[in-house]
Amino acid sequence: MIFNLENYNLTREEVTYDLCVFGAGPAGISLALKLQNKRVLICEAGDLDYSEKSQDCYRGNVIGDEYFDLDITRLRYFGGSSNHWGGWCRTFNEMDFKRNDIGHYLVWPINKKDIDPFFNETVNIIGLPNPDRLTYKESISKNYELESIKFDYSGTRFNTKYFEFFKKNKNVDLILNANLKKLNLEGNIIKSCDLVSYNSSTKKIKAKIFVFAMGGIENSRQLLWQQKINNEKLYDKQIPVGKYWMEHPHYTLGNLVLKKKFINLPMFKRSKIEEVKFVQLKYNIQKKLNILSCGLRIEWPGYTDAKQIIADLSCYAPKLSKEIYELFNQNLMCAARIRAAWEQLPVIDNNIELSLNERDKFNIPRPILNWKKNSFDKKTIKASLEYFSQFLLDEDMGRLQIDDWVINSNQYPVDDEKAGHHHMGGTRMHESKKFGVVDENCKVYGSSNLYCAGSSIFTTGGHNNPTFPIIQFSLRLGDYLSKKKI
Ligand SMILES: Cc1cc2nc3c(=O)[nH]c(=O)nc-3n(C[C@H](O)[C@H](O)[C@H](O)COP(=O)(O)OP(=O)(O)OC[C@H]3O[C@@H](n4cnc5c(N)ncnc54)[C@H](O)[C@@H]3O)c2cc1C
Repeated sequence: MIFNLENYNLTREEVTYDLCVFGAGPAGISLALKLQNKRVLICEAGDLDYSEKSQDCYRGNVIGDEYFDLDITRLRYFGGSSNHWGGWCRTFNEMDFKRNDIGHYLVWPINKKDIDPFFNETVNIIGLPNPDRLTYKESISKNYELESIKFDYSGTRFNTKYFEFFKKNKNVDLILNANLKKLNLEGNIIKSCDLVSYNSSTKKIKAKIFVFAMGGIENSRQLLWQQKINNEKLYDKQIPVGKYWMEHPHYTLGNLVLKKKFINLPMFKRSKIEEVKFVQLKYNIQKKLNILSCGLRIEWPGYTDAKQIIADLSCYAPKLSKEIYELFNQNLMCAARIRAAWEQLPVIDNNIELSLNERDKFNIPRPILNWKKNSFDKKTIKASLEYFSQFLLDEDMGRLQIDDWVINSNQYPVDDEKAGHHHMGGTRMHESKKFGVVDENCKVYGSSNLYCAGSSIFTTGGHNNPTFPIIQFSLRLGDYLSKKKI
């Protein structure tokens, strides 16, 4: 059933829920779908639609590199940020779980096979027409360790698709305009929580298990705050809450000119559903080059843009560009932009903390995001691009012009996309409390009954979009909790 804390019927019979989940985005909704054998309450801070009063609670500050405003890069109502997501989906690679070549703290305590059983269920929840694309990989050269990959696209809006589910379900309740105010502890066990609405209605909810599914910034913010107002007793003091935050930076890195006779190779060929083609370096070569993963995106523009790309090339290689221009006019060359989204090294200095002087409507300190790209980011994109460039040269397929800033400067272009709105880390999963906030079952270290869901638990981020794996992890958590004796 769906309730609204702003006009909640207080005479209703009180229940102690098995589980209380904060947040009704893709992570919280998937968890609810998996937990129908339990008595579950999903507390959603927003309403069914966007409202200024809810969105305002997402304001915060960013220190470091240029990033989106924190109330722009996410949405605070039923369905969460999936209300304006792009719908691009791919799952994690096996190698994303075990980057011990870079450092032990990048190793997950679980493997890809632990989330694989939830693949088909995730496909259905998201509604994907061509799920084979999510695991597609094809080698593109005998001599170079490069592979072509694909994404699938979903047009699903979680708020419209799952409204009826909550309306009709007898076991799973959704309460709107219900903001988490306080977790109430006895020892290290959370016994209940206090909710508050925008018109100051309050409600105490008793439950046996609590789950944070409030997104990749809010999970950290709320953990830090709830620890503070509970005299540091909610979780182990030593765990790195808010730390090792990650994004997928998105930038244009250069231009490709390709001999027309290669345009029909599967790695380049455009189709109706594939305006963009994707290439990645295989794990072995990433390991050899000591870099993380990078998805190179080949985007074919129209004729006029292609001419511009060749004109741009003339600044760097006038002789080559003259030759290419002639071939282009004879219809022998094609030109594309090379863009990239890449994996960031999780570092302790990229983190979420609580503001000391700014608070939201509910008196909760606003979040501060400290985020900077570093030399590892640069190494990953430069080495990936140079490797791809060498492949094109050796096979005499074409030429890559790498933008000057990638090679010679520490500045990133100011007018580019910046990042993917993918908020990862902060409550990462690790076997050691030094590097992790949750254990392999997503339970917060030091708490008896608090769990996290969403990309805040990501130990590493890979380079693919996060929502498909977020749901796989949520279903895995749901499966674990549904079998747990509560
Ligand atoms: C512009 C844009 C494009 C994107 N494109 C893609 C894409 O193509 N592919 C992809 O995989 N991902 C994409 N993403 C990312 C994707 O939207 C997120 O990964 C996904 O929504 C995360 O799901 P979540 O449930 O963990 O968090 P969210 O979607 O952030 O949901 C969190 C929920 O918690 C609620 N909440 C917050 N605070 C409280 C509180 N105090 N009490 C109770 N409830 C609370 C919020 O209202 C919200 O409903 C995009 C994001 C944006 C912004």
